[in-house]
Amino acid sequence: MRDELLKSAKRIVVKIGSSLIASRASGLRPEQIERLADEIAALRADGREVLVVSSGAIVSGIKKLQLKEYPKNLPVKQAAAAVGQSRLMWAYEKAFDRLNIQVAQILLTHQDLADRRRFLNARYTLTALIGFGVLPIINENDTVAVEEIRVGDNDTLAAQVAHLVDADLLVILSDVDGMFTEDPRKNPAATLIPLIPEITEEIERKAGMSSTFEGTGGMATKVRAAKKVGEYGVATLIVNGQQPGLLPHVLAGGLGGSLFLAKERRLTSRKHWIAFTLRARGQIRVDPGAVEALTQRGKSLLASGIVEITGPFETGDPVSCLDQDGKEFAKGLVNFSSDLLDRMKGLKTQDIQQQIGPQEYEEVIHRDNLVIL
Ligand code: GLU
Repeated sequence: MRDELLKSAKRIVVKIGSSLIASRASGLRPEQIERLADEIAALRADGREVLVVSSGAIVSGIKKLQLKEYPKNLPVKQAAAAVGQSRLMWAYEKAFDRLNIQVAQILLTHQDLADRRRFLNARYTLTALIGFGVLPIINENDTVAVEEIRVGDNDTLAAQVAHLVDADLLVILSDVDGMFTEDPRKNPAATLIPLIPEITEEIERKAGMSSTFEGTGGMATKVRAAKKVGEYGVATLIVNGQQPGLLPHVLAGGLGGSLFLAKERRLTSRKHWIAFTLRARGQIRVDPGAVEALTQRGKSLLASGIVEITGPFETGDPVSCLDQDGKEFAKGLVNFSSDLLDRMKGLKTQDIQQQIGPQEYEEVIHRDNLVIL
């Protein structure tokens, strides 16, 4: 199962973490970038299409600007990203030039992915680049993305890119070997889990316990990323990128790393985008009857089942649907603003007509715009 999946994956998104290619003390490490470039070239020679999501801009910028510590203040972080990103790309250019591989820089923000038109546009651009045999190297556009609209970490960005390009596999190259039965730093008897068929609550809990030093994401963001793309049918491999040759070895079916299998049921691209790329602007709490109608009978959400609205949100915004206990069970695009919904909640369609006036839609969230989580 594991071997087959890894051997047959054709389109692969490889996320390269900061700690693999840079350190705060010495900045970028071109020799590591060259080694990883060699390994990626080997995958391409094997007939695979590779896209890289690379961190390292901020860490590289810290060195260039001679900052004493990782910047806390956003403008300084953004300045570091700006000087670091060009250095990062320059190192990739040089490393891949040796191998006659052309690279392209793509900088994305959450907004590029949250707007459906821009999302599709980014997809076409990346597909065109792949068509030319170019290797896309993607990072978050840290310099312009303010805190509220940041994707925030490159594990999540890589998951969104894997969905964007309909990848077969997401590979997260890290400085850890993969997912262990327990935290290996605390318990030496902990063993690496080669295959994770399903991301259960226990796996998520375990992942929350460990973290790596450099970079933003620990194991928790990696497992969250695996869960995200898993819903779209994309498997995730977490593997140690510090060990020379391990990446091609594992993809050829060898031992190493942890593979998280994907769900079989594949959400459509649009529904996946609603569920995992968009951020909810508000919440709608519904009664048990509505929970049942939405989750069991595939119905649209009507005003009569709504108990409480938390806004503000506008027509067309993404919102979360909560059950009686406040647990999010669905997400969708809402047809009414929070102000109007607050007046409509609990009312039957005829009552809405009489008390508020005729409305363009009967459904508060149409089933086509609703995803059960
Ligand atoms: N985009 C950031 C950078 O290039 C890194 C974010 C992350 O490591 O998750 O420095």
